[in-house]
Amino acid sequence: MGLLDALFRSNEILGIAEETLEFAIESSEAAHPDEYMGFLRGTEADQLGLDRDGLVITDILVIPGTESNSVSATVKTNQIPNDVKALGSVHSHPNGVLRPSDADLGTFGRGSVHIIIGAPYRRTDWKAFDSQGQRTTLNVIDVELPETEEFFDFTQADIDEELRG
Ligand SMILES: [Zn+2]
Repeated sequence: MGLLDALFRSNEILGIAEETLEFAIESSEAAHPDEYMGFLRGTEADQLGLDRDGLVITDILVIPGTESNSVSATVKTNQIPNDVKALGSVHSHPNGVLRPSDADLGTFGRGSVHIIIGAPYRRTDWKAFDSQGQRTTLNVIDVELPETEEFFDFTQADIDEELRG
């Protein structure tokens, strides 16, 4: 295996942590009838005790300044710093339609996996799409997340810190 193969392999998205997915679904339900939206960030699999190369989606970064209503959640693009290494995005469709809208397709180029969660927000009410808006498989991985407390208690200071890189 060459070096390039190794680099690509290590950037592979293995899946999403079960706890992170559940958090996103709960947040979507809490936001209803408004849309919930965030960016997906990952952790190296070996840091989670998995004997594999690749990334597991473990964090959701909700960008301050998201304007949300029942029709659409629009992130002010000037709020997104270039150095936020998002693997993709997650947002909810309060109307329950698990398909990307035309507006969604326009934003999916940024990042490689995009999750849509829909009402009524059961554990199965979500689908993953690639940057072209095609259905893609996203494994749900049962891993122990580090720093769970911080993850659930995201303060503005944490976000500022995160955005500064
Ligand atoms: Zn959408």
